[in-house]
Amino acid sequence: MTSDSLSIARDLLRCPSVTPADAGALGVLERHLGAAGFEINRLTFSEPGWPDTDNLYARIGTEGPHLTFAGHTDVVPAGDPLAWSHDAFAGDVKDGVLYGRGAVDMKGAIACAVAATLAYLADNGGKPKGSISFLITGDEEGPAINGTPKLLQWAAARGEKFDHCVLGEPSNVEELGDCIKLGRRGSLSGTLTVEGVQGHVAYPHRAANPVPDIAALVAALSSEPLDHGSAHFQASNLEFVTIDVGNPAWNVIPAQAKARFNIRYNDCHTEESLKALVEARMAKACGNRIKAHIVWEPSNASVFITKPGPFTDMVVTAIEQVTGRKPDLNTGGGTSDARFIAHYCPVLEFGLVGQTMHQIDERTPVADLERLTQIYRNVLDRYFA
Ligand SMILES: [Zn+2]
Repeated sequence: MTSDSLSIARDLLRCPSVTPADAGALGVLERHLGAAGFEINRLTFSEPGWPDTDNLYARIGTEGPHLTFAGHTDVVPAGDPLAWSHDAFAGDVKDGVLYGRGAVDMKGAIACAVAATLAYLADNGGKPKGSISFLITGDEEGPAINGTPKLLQWAAARGEKFDHCVLGEPSNVEELGDCIKLGRRGSLSGTLTVEGVQGHVAYPHRAANPVPDIAALVAALSSEPLDHGSAHFQASNLEFVTIDVGNPAWNVIPAQAKARFNIRYNDCHTEESLKALVEARMAKACGNRIKAHIVWEPSNASVFITKPGPFTDMVVTAIEQVTGRKPDLNTGGGTSDARFIAHYCPVLEFGLVGQTMHQIDERTPVADLERLTQIYRNVLDRYFA
């Protein structure tokens, strides 16, 4: 069993673990971590209506501080297999580049974290000066129902306490070391409904047309900024994505009009304060003439931020030392499991370069695997110093 990052990554890539299949991927981690003395827990979570999914929690050490590496071994489908220049699940290396679905998102980074940990333990008598764990799910690219949220609840119920988390999502934009993600904006969706009174277009005084009214509300809610950004975030934005009346007739004033919107919001708001703000603006635009209401969708993507401090500084230094680059601290992009982990401990995301994630010919330079392993090793040395 060779335990360098490339060989672990190739073993992982050869498991076609398209969500919700595990296809042996967690077993690869179990073998390496088990051999190094980790206590391994394999957990299959279920929920009616959703596929069962496998997860893994492995820990070595019983004391704090406790650093956990989080990640997912599931991948998105390969797409057209003929479009790939290498089999998506063969783990081929050509000209110093590793190909395969999950190479950067995010089996490669998990392999680096495992290799760095094994090397750290080998150099430190087999035990950390604290605890190291791996919190790995097979349900990130899918519905995320039987993945990280349940894994975190399970861990909390047995008394696991995490001090810090590194999530190895492909955070870098162009080059290894250019970006750490410290948070994400929240996401909240709603449907605006305007109630009119149906009637004949020739007798508008006997009807109330919701179409101009919803146009006025859409304009009002779209025009006023929600905020002007904050120290770590761009400004929040509310975007209407559709207006629906569904009226097939030319001579009927419709009874109702609906419009759906999504808001990406920063730490100037909470979900509740944001709902109150939007509803107040709607009420103002309605006056006492327009009848409207909003139905909000349930959301599991609230805003979070890990404020820069000693932990983030330490990771920045580790990255700088290996790559010569000072990473940008960023909160852009879509959601990840960090939004769930943030409820339990400070979390940052740093992994490989994201350019080819979810694409045909997903790939990473082998040199990036080696350097990311050095960075994680550097983090471990500093964390337990
Ligand atoms: Zn990912």
